[in-house]
Amino acid sequence: MAFLNERMETLSRAELKKVQLERLQKEIKRTYDNVECFRNRMDEKGLKPEDIKSLEDLQKVPFSYKKDLRDYYPFGLFAQPLKNVLRFHASSGTTGKRIVVGYTKNDLETWAECAARMLSAIGVTDEDIIHVAYGYGLFTGGFGIHGAAEKIGAAVIPISSGNTKLQIQTMIDFGATVLCCTPSYAMHLGEEVNRMGVKDQLKLKCGVFGAEPWTESMREEIEKSLGIKAYDIYGLTEVIGPGVACECEEKAGMHIWEDHFLAEIIDPDTGEVLPEGSTGELVFTSLTKEAFPVIRYRTRDICRLEYEPCKCGRTHLRMCKPQGRSDDMLIIRGVNVFPSQIEEVLLKTSGGDLTPNYQIVVDRKNNTDTFDVNVEMSEELFADEVRSIEDIEKRITAELRSTLGIGAKVHLVNPKSIERSEGKAKRVIDKRNLH
Ligand code: ADP
Ligand code: ZN
Repeated sequence: MAFLNERMETLSRAELKKVQLERLQKEIKRTYDNVECFRNRMDEKGLKPEDIKSLEDLQKVPFSYKKDLRDYYPFGLFAQPLKNVLRFHASSGTTGKRIVVGYTKNDLETWAECAARMLSAIGVTDEDIIHVAYGYGLFTGGFGIHGAAEKIGAAVIPISSGNTKLQIQTMIDFGATVLCCTPSYAMHLGEEVNRMGVKDQLKLKCGVFGAEPWTESMREEIEKSLGIKAYDIYGLTEVIGPGVACECEEKAGMHIWEDHFLAEIIDPDTGEVLPEGSTGELVFTSLTKEAFPVIRYRTRDICRLEYEPCKCGRTHLRMCKPQGRSDDMLIIRGVNVFPSQIEEVLLKTSGGDLTPNYQIVVDRKNNTDTFDVNVEMSEELFADEVRSIEDIEKRITAELRSTLGIGAKVHLVNPKSIERSEGKAKRVIDKRNLH
């Protein structure tokens, strides 16, 4: 198992903390000196950069929010003059107005290194041919993985998203060995590959999938349909892009590269830092970023951190798969529901009758929330004339009710009837605000 930067990836916790504190103090000072919004918030609390004497002192520092990026759009939070900025990226805007971030030369280097650590950790080398079907453009996905692939000297196919048949033909013709795209698009590619009957012409050995939540069942499905090992990568535009955290070959959580990003788990309601092992909102502080430092940035992603050293030898802590964003959470008839909970139920109870293609539709009729879950049945079930669809719907409805605590109407729909996405899947249609 290869390391890109063995020394940094295997530092003891004590050494890691030392590196973090030194870098944190500098990052806070840099941000205080150059970003007015942060300086004002520190001043309001009577805090100066010199007051940060230990890692624990970070808890006194004010949070920052996605809203700040909108309020200071476009460049109000940059800590470097534009002359030093080499690249912009912008969020895909899954949850609102576009936000923009910038990178210096060193930032691009840091980013490439973070994502490249993952490629090395899962056995990708300069012999590999990497098919990047993440979108290229303002979205961080394409360029993020591209930089990482170049860093390790692999050959890149920068195909970007779209045109599924051409994607598959290109993978075959160029002999792609690594596939990078969103997990929902990987599912779609898997379906098409099998429909075209060309699986045995592919040379793929593994895939790097992220940018949206996906479950273990989806992993199994992708691994099976494409005949590869599938690994998870996490990141967000504000913090740097894909590569903030990555799985290793153990597939036992994503290592957060702690020499660059300091992670905290807080109670999203009180802002209190929670004890080790708790589930809560993930908060990041960048330690080495120049153009766009983030200090105690509230990701709204809900997850848990694992501090035990990993079997792979890396000491950096691991984050579990985020359960979804706190702002992804739906409140249906007063009950909190995460789409990921629904997905787990669908896949666990289906016994191969269903596919992971589903859509949740919430609306309001007669002042009551309606809650429908449309899920595609498998080809086998569709072709089966004996079994009753209605019985299966009933079974899943009961299962959902016992997991979520509220009732949903489950509809088994025909295979391939739910629209496929080339980027992030749109799982939830909430029509309640449209009335
Ligand atoms: P947008 O907010 O427009 O979607 P980004 O493309 O920066 O912008 O998305 C970052 C978010 O995507 C993260 O905060 C997280 O919610 C989600 N995400 C990214 N990677 C993963 C992953 N591997 N698993 C689950 N969620 C992820
Ligand atoms: Zn590991």
